[in-house]
Amino acid sequence: MATFGSTAANSANPFVESARAAELAFDLARSYLLDLPGRPLGRPVSPETVAAALDEPLPDEHGDPAGAVREWFDRAGPGIVASAGPRFFGYVVGGATPAALAGDWLATAIDQCGGLWATSPAAAQTELIVIRWLKDLFGLPQTWVGTLCSGATMGNVIGLAAARQWAGERLGFDPGRDGLAGYPPIPVVSSMAIHASAVKSLGTLGFGRDSIRRVAAPDGRVDLSALEAHLAGIEGPVIVVANAGEVNTGQFDDLVAVADLCDRVQGGAWLHVGGAFGLVAAASPALRPRLAGIERADSVAADGHKWLNLTYDSGIAFVREAAALRAAFVATGA
Ligand SMILES: *Cc1c(COP(=O)(O)O)cnc(C)c1O
Repeated sequence: MATFGSTAANSANPFVESARAAELAFDLARSYLLDLPGRPLGRPVSPETVAAALDEPLPDEHGDPAGAVREWFDRAGPGIVASAGPRFFGYVVGGATPAALAGDWLATAIDQCGGLWATSPAAAQTELIVIRWLKDLFGLPQTWVGTLCSGATMGNVIGLAAARQWAGERLGFDPGRDGLAGYPPIPVVSSMAIHASAVKSLGTLGFGRDSIRRVAAPDGRVDLSALEAHLAGIEGPVIVVANAGEVNTGQFDDLVAVADLCDRVQGGAWLHVGGAFGLVAAASPALRPRLAGIERADSVAADGHKWLNLTYDSGIAFVREAAALRAAFVATGA
């Protein structure tokens, strides 16, 4: 009977092949990065062309890992957009700093499961420290909690799930446990400038995209008297979604004034701020005043992969009340 480790193949270090594939990826990446400043940003290319270049039936045979990586890279070329380069100004998409790029690669190589302390104390502790640094950088209270996530959309889901939990508990039920059906509706108020991602997050969380009450936002900033009038007719608990960096205009809601209005709502208001790219303005002394009042929010969503120039995907959620966040996402296992 054969025993494990008795054949030459089994005794060879299986990671030799991984290292070889990583070396090839490194070579491809090096020439890509060195060519990036001169690379065409994107080429007009049809879906059919990209599909024809990439598509084939699922292979039956095990292939050469390094060869597969090279082949994908060669075939994908026409569909690659040089958004990480210095001449790309589309949307609010950013490139990556050298440390972000190298860190992302190393993180992939060591492949930690950061969801539990037991599966990676290094990852868990690094996240805690990074969150503390980011609270410092953005001027958020250190008593808040935070979590890294895949982007501001997930940051919105996380912050608004905590909001939903808070509101439900005020109304006498536990949304995470009981759901929303059969309970009093939780009103959500924002402006016409609410980002599609927050709308999507609210839909995901069971609020219903069309139930969001949107007050006027001329020039991208919420009209404060319209918001005041709207909130006056609402009994809390209510969730208010404000913008710090409206994506089409770059405008910031007056967060001090919005927080003042929230304070006056009978039954309470949870203020969630979409700060996907605008929160980074807090790091600039010149722009910091636009975020005045951010420390009075209850939750804030932000992106790492926009103006923090981390690699995709990278987002952050900050929440004032750890208890609401914990109750919204609690999970136990054997
Ligand atoms: C980009 C953006 C989002 C969505 O962020 P993702 O990282 O793509 O999930 C949400 N809100 C605003 C204001 C944005 O600019």
